[in-house]
Amino acid sequence: METAEIRRRWLSFFEGKGHTVVPSAPLIYDDPNLLFVNAGMVPFKPYFLGQQSPPWQRATSVQKCVRTGDIEEVGKTSRHGTFFQMNGNFSFGDYFKAGAIEYAWELLTTSQTQGGYGIEADKLWATVYEDDDEAADLWVQLTGIPKERVVRRGLADNYWHMGVAGPGGPCSEIYVDRGPEYGPDGGPAVDEDRFMEVWNLVFMQSSLGDVRTKVDFDISGDLPKKNIDTGMGLERIASILQGVDNMYEIDEVYPVLERAAEMTGKKYGAHSGHDAAHSHPDDVRLRVVADHIRSSLMLIGDGVTPGNEGRGYVLRRMLRRAVRSMRLLGFDEPSLPHLLPVSLERMKQSYPELEDGFGRISQIAYAEEDAFRRTLASGTTILDTAVARTKAEGGTQLAGEQAFSLHDTYGFPIDLTLEMAAEQGLAVDREGFRRLMQEQRDRAKADAKAKKAGHADTHVWKELRERGATEFRAYEELTSEGHVVGLVHEGRRVDELEPGQRGQVILDRTPFYAESGGQVADEGIITADGAHLRVVDVQRPVKGLIAHTVEVLQGPVRTGAEVISEVDPEWRISACQAHSGTHVVHAALRQVLGPSALQSGSYNKPGYLRLDFAWNQALSPATRSEIEEVANLAVRGDLPVSAQYMTLPEAREWGALALFGETYDEMVRVVEIGGPWSRELCGGTHVQHSSQIGALTVTGESSVGSGVRRLEAFVGMDALHYLAKERALVAELTDLVKVQPGELKERIASLLARVKDAEREIEKMRQEQVMAQTGKLLDYTRDVRGVRVLTHDAGDGAGADDLRTMALDLRHRLGEAGPAVVALTGVAKGRPVVVVATNAAARERGIKAGALVRVAAQALGGGGGGKDDLAQGGGTDPARTGEALGRVDAEIAVAAG
Ligand code: ATP
Ligand code: MG
Repeated sequence: METAEIRRRWLSFFEGKGHTVVPSAPLIYDDPNLLFVNAGMVPFKPYFLGQQSPPWQRATSVQKCVRTGDIEEVGKTSRHGTFFQMNGNFSFGDYFKAGAIEYAWELLTTSQTQGGYGIEADKLWATVYEDDDEAADLWVQLTGIPKERVVRRGLADNYWHMGVAGPGGPCSEIYVDRGPEYGPDGGPAVDEDRFMEVWNLVFMQSSLGDVRTKVDFDISGDLPKKNIDTGMGLERIASILQGVDNMYEIDEVYPVLERAAEMTGKKYGAHSGHDAAHSHPDDVRLRVVADHIRSSLMLIGDGVTPGNEGRGYVLRRMLRRAVRSMRLLGFDEPSLPHLLPVSLERMKQSYPELEDGFGRISQIAYAEEDAFRRTLASGTTILDTAVARTKAEGGTQLAGEQAFSLHDTYGFPIDLTLEMAAEQGLAVDREGFRRLMQEQRDRAKADAKAKKAGHADTHVWKELRERGATEFRAYEELTSEGHVVGLVHEGRRVDELEPGQRGQVILDRTPFYAESGGQVADEGIITADGAHLRVVDVQRPVKGLIAHTVEVLQGPVRTGAEVISEVDPEWRISACQAHSGTHVVHAALRQVLGPSALQSGSYNKPGYLRLDFAWNQALSPATRSEIEEVANLAVRGDLPVSAQYMTLPEAREWGALALFGETYDEMVRVVEIGGPWSRELCGGTHVQHSSQIGALTVTGESSVGSGVRRLEAFVGMDALHYLAKERALVAELTDLVKVQPGELKERIASLLARVKDAEREIEKMRQEQVMAQTGKLLDYTRDVRGVRVLTHDAGDGAGADDLRTMALDLRHRLGEAGPAVVALTGVAKGRPVVVVATNAAARERGIKAGALVRVAAQALGGGGGGKDDLAQGGGTDPARTGEALGRVDAEIAVAAG
């Protein structure tokens, strides 16, 4: 049965049982504690936590999930993907244990012809929490499953909570026995690859107080309403229903694996049995490729771009691991263009939006592969040099610093360093590497902590949030009246803030815009009876709550105080100009470059904006001007700006641009400029007409990582100031070179040409001087055992080229009548240089330039070499040129002797 069909049957089964079908939330979800959605229940969290009342009593979904923690398992177990889909059914105070067990059993065991999954009942096992007699009995009563196949397990395996105070409860997992060829008898406690967990039923029944660890917590009472949360791995059930060994062999994943095997000439499975844990490394690599390609497709599809931290890093790591695995399998050309489209072909059935976005998705992925291939190329050279040096010094292992700098500077993964060093017979000081990594991590942590200083623990915010959401008036007014609901100082709740202190103020109502969507926070003041506060930052620490960071100029201010909050109107108008300007530039970009130039990030503050967008090459000056012109025409067009609320599907229908989708149950805000010309999902503040943006000047365009460019611009008065500054600069320059502005370019070009001529002239004169010197040097020729030897230190300023010219000239003048050697030293840019020339008669006596230079260069603390007749070397110690020449003398004496 195809995965898409399993999914359809799931949804229609539960819809038939009165559940509302809820579409998958995007992988990036509005939850500061989560990198990605990692379970079906995540979008329903507010209902389970009692923060919002659920709109339905029963719901079902197939949720996209990414679990970064499982990345190391990929390919080595049969059942862990980085991306997977979790089928879930949820009950909010409606049915409980009996209902959940009955539904699960019915769907699993109903025959395929009757719409079920048709798994034989005698292959199913269940686990329950050891004290949950109720669930154990229900299993036997309701399904007829023999008692021996209901296994009791402890807290670690069968108890669920969120790691914080809140709901918790026992769970019950359903396993499928895949038969003796997958492992030993004995049930899930013995072997989790043969007995595969497919479905987990969570019975939320208790309210937990203090939660210390997964297995150490206090139960404070029963939940007033009991809930059900279940999760079934779609890929896992697919691997069973499709009769394949593991989730990488199912219809949604295998075609990529197959293509990768074809490209690398590997025969998948030729050297492995059914058991993933004991597979041939090549098979594991093929599975990693297939898994990571699919995860990357889904992540980029939901708006993630490769980067060096957080979500971007996870994506980068997966793309790179896929590329590297292909390389280890023997394919050393760009591989994503062959693989990603195969994944798209399979996934678009369930996620048609991937096809529309594929231009953008593939551009980002391919650019990342190109960048990584360049990294590999340059890192390889560095590594080879380090290996050569280590060997030359007689070492057997590469220093930890080397491995670390390769990792840190060249993005060279440690496992790659290990492997490539091993290929050349060297180990790596892993302990040293680990220490340096740890130090770096500690530094990063300390940084992050410092940044967060003053930010309270989330529980403080959650507590405040429980008193109600902040009424957000930023769209309607610049001044609001309200009350202080709470005060926070250094992360703790306080009753008052005193003059000179900095802390956070929570109001019941605020006109201040909290930083989000790329727009910086408003500035302004809050006043109360006897108190005067300057607002320096505004954030939303948890959904629905706005925290103003203030400096108390006069005070104190107390909880409960009546206040007037005023946004600085100058600040706000400039902020609006910048945010509307960002939309205008984005629309202009897409008009000029095409719809694939999609914004991937933005930042705007009064007077300034910057916008990152997917694009592979630098913009030409002409393109930049065109974008600027289109943007300014839109400003001059005085287009109306408006905002309206609608559902996400409506917004999509409308063509509104949204990368990071909102939640499905919320209304989204769409900001339009000039009707359909610019439609974006946006919570920011805007001008009312585009002409209020004033002016817009693009000031720069640069690269910020693979496949992403950044455009910067000034708006409003700042645009004017920027232009005025440039005009002043031109005025200064014309003054300086004494021409009209129109002639400036020509004049500077001619000045530069003259400077170049002058430099050439000086160089020529210097050379002539060197040559003039050479004639005189002949007088210093000495006889060393029948060899005419001329050594000379030309001193500072004489580089290798000069010395070579001089040496050849001198050798020529010394002629071929008997052996002659010329040895010269000099210092260029602080580094000593040595050049040696020998004539034919000297060489016949066994005196070779290359050998002499090596001796001299050694004295200089370096190396060198060359032919028998002419050689050159250098070193690090300019004070030892005399010693170097002395050694040459001695060596000649030995050779001539
Ligand atoms: P396991 O112990 O096998 O890693 P889990 O206990 O982490 O599973 P849950 O958190 O209970 O799994 O998730 C519910 C269901 O989601 C599991 O029963 C399984 O079918 C599926 N699932 C969990 N992790 C993955 C994954 N990495 N890839 C595919 N499916 C998964
Ligand atoms: Mg797990």
